Amino acid sequence: MTRFHEEPAPGLEQAYQGTLLHAEESAFQKIEVYEHPTFGRMLVLDGLVQTTTRDEFCYHEMLVHVPMIAVAEPRRVLIIGGGDGGTLRRVLEHATVTEAVMVEIDETVTTVSREFFPEIAGDAFDDPRATVLFDDGAAYVRDGSEPFDAIVIDSSDPVGPGVVLFSEEFYGQCRVRLNPGGVLSAQIGSPFYFPDEIAMALGNAAKAFPQVKPYVGAVPTYPGTLWGYMLAGERIDTDADTAGKRAAERGLQPRYWTPEIQAGAFAVPAFVAEVASGSPVFPKP
Ligand code: SAM
Repeated sequence: MTRFHEEPAPGLEQAYQGTLLHAEESAFQKIEVYEHPTFGRMLVLDGLVQTTTRDEFCYHEMLVHVPMIAVAEPRRVLIIGGGDGGTLRRVLEHATVTEAVMVEIDETVTTVSREFFPEIAGDAFDDPRATVLFDDGAAYVRDGSEPFDAIVIDSSDPVGPGVVLFSEEFYGQCRVRLNPGGVLSAQIGSPFYFPDEIAMALGNAAKAFPQVKPYVGAVPTYPGTLWGYMLAGERIDTDADTAGKRAAERGLQPRYWTPEIQAGAFAVPAFVAEVASGSPVFPKP
């Protein structure tokens, strides 16, 4: 067994003991796979837990179903990042989807994910509606023109190649690539440990979109468990009845997301709203 840990904040170690199954340095990051007695298989990039076979559904369902249900008939969807395929799989579960384009900068992440945890992607990579490109997602959005009904940003944290995916310029270019009524979702980090990242992402998105709403969900292996996402668009409003109807029509069978969560996703804790407003809610440690 190998002990490894994340250090989300000074003096805090989120430690794991697992069996290292694979380790390599890609052109972009260190990639490790662990077998863990509680979380199953774990994908770790540059020392940070990205996803696990035990709790991946908590994250991928909230990142994907919230935006997809907010759109009446999402057909073309763009995924930035998401190398493990969990986001692609959830997008393709929506029967309205005719094409899902996934742009992942590091092909090695997908190769390793397909070998060590094929269950996260299921058969998504072989779905005829899926197009998987290995490129910088920011360049893809900037240099292309085909429109999408939803853009899902399943990026790593704002470090290295991921930094650009939290920028005002990138969000502005995403808005250009969205059809009228289209929406963007993104994972934006821990509102408790990384409030500055949350405020930055929301602030940058607010310069590009008329409406930007933070929402939260639980992801057991992410620091602090309470995880931040955002939904951006021209007009965001999905009540539980609409959400339930659309989920039933599309044959969704989620294990975390519910129509009620969809309606309530934006009822965030007061401190998250404060973080979103950019006010420093936590004294500097
Ligand atoms: N589910 C994980 C999470 O919640 O943090 C992240 C999923 S996935 C592992 C994150 C992916 O974003 C990584 O595979 C990384 O290579 C990719 N990525 C980072 N920067 C990127 C960029 N500029 N364009 C495309 N993919 C990028």
